[in-house]
Amino acid sequence: MFSSFLIKYAEIGVKGKNRYIFEDMLVRQIKYALKSVDAHKAVTKTSGRIFVDFEGDFDYDEVIESLQHVFGISGICPMVRIEDMEPENLYKEVVKYFDNVYPDKNKTFKVNARRSNKTYPLDSMELNATVGGALLDAFPELKVDVHNPEITVTVEVREKIFIYSEIIPGPGGLPVGTNGKAMLLLSGGIDSPVAGYMIAKRGVKIDATYFHAPPYTSERAKQKVVDLARYVSRYSGPIYLHIINFTDIQLYIYEKCPHEELTIIMRRFMMKIAEEIAKETECQALITGESIGQVASQTTHSLAVTNEVCTLPVFRPLIGFDKEDIVTISKKIDTYETSIQPYEDCCTIFVAKHPVTKPNLSVIKKHELNLNEKIDELVKIALETRETIIVSADEE
Ligand code: ATP
Ligand code: MG
Repeated sequence: MFSSFLIKYAEIGVKGKNRYIFEDMLVRQIKYALKSVDAHKAVTKTSGRIFVDFEGDFDYDEVIESLQHVFGISGICPMVRIEDMEPENLYKEVVKYFDNVYPDKNKTFKVNARRSNKTYPLDSMELNATVGGALLDAFPELKVDVHNPEITVTVEVREKIFIYSEIIPGPGGLPVGTNGKAMLLLSGGIDSPVAGYMIAKRGVKIDATYFHAPPYTSERAKQKVVDLARYVSRYSGPIYLHIINFTDIQLYIYEKCPHEELTIIMRRFMMKIAEEIAKETECQALITGESIGQVASQTTHSLAVTNEVCTLPVFRPLIGFDKEDIVTISKKIDTYETSIQPYEDCCTIFVAKHPVTKPNLSVIKKHELNLNEKIDELVKIALETRETIIVSADEE
């Protein structure tokens, strides 16, 4: 019965003069999200409202599901569009609408009419009274409650009339593309996909870097990361995924540095390399899935030592989260089942039995001098031989 959707957006309404930038980006992201929905559709912005209209058949559930992946949408209102605007027809249609949507009529309601089309013969007060009256006549069990109704039937009179009463929650946040771009260090774990999702939710476009260590990590472990990127891309839009062969760097550190410092030194090189790619690809920040105290390399001391190599800001949206809370989000965004597949990550292969938990920066730097002979060359090769693939939800 629904042919159109009114898109509600909360936060972007308050952006003052920049409002149109946010709205235009939202329209663009909605169009992108609906690309795979097979139907005649139009996404339009008129006087500060965004509408999605369908002509002919379409898959309602698929549309809702797609829109629920578009950051910036706070609510999705399925609407009925009335072509014949005669008041008598309007009353008939509202009664039909109400009957279809609410089988149980034992409810309180109010009518909320808005007339932006000033040529319409009834103003909003008159519409409230007459449409409400028509509903009461048709369903005597209904009761009017103007202050706290269970159901608010909105009637919008524009070039056509729209009726809606339900608001399906959207994902919230800000439209992707309104807040620059950041480079996500994406591993096969639970945390980093969630971190990427959270930053994309604030309107930031995402690229990703994955470090693999063949033959110590398998092709399957790499595929797992591609799969995770694809889940995140359902929200963030296409992701450029850079895959760095980290094996030689890892082996070289293993050969030259104390084993209990291996993880921390490795992480410093990961950040350095990710930052190189970030700068090259015009990202303004890095993103990791780190959370204080989760593992030895994420104590406050370790985070400080890792952070020291970076000049770009590092976004760590999970920094204060318990694992349980992160798992809850990963289930919500469908990455959990993929993340828990048991393929070795490059970090887990060379881990020492007793990694340092309070690394000392000057000691670490001193040990890194052992790498002087070859490390620059190895980093250069790693950057030059990287593989870049564009991951997007379309090619599922
Ligand atoms: P995750 O669940 O995201 O893998 P983790 O709990 O396993 O995190 P670490 O292995 O210490 O934690 O990694 C911390 C962060 O460093 C990750 O969240 C991710 O952002 C980044 N990272 C770790 N390993 C890799 C990798 N192989 N490639 C890219 N980024 C990585
Ligand atoms: Mg990991």
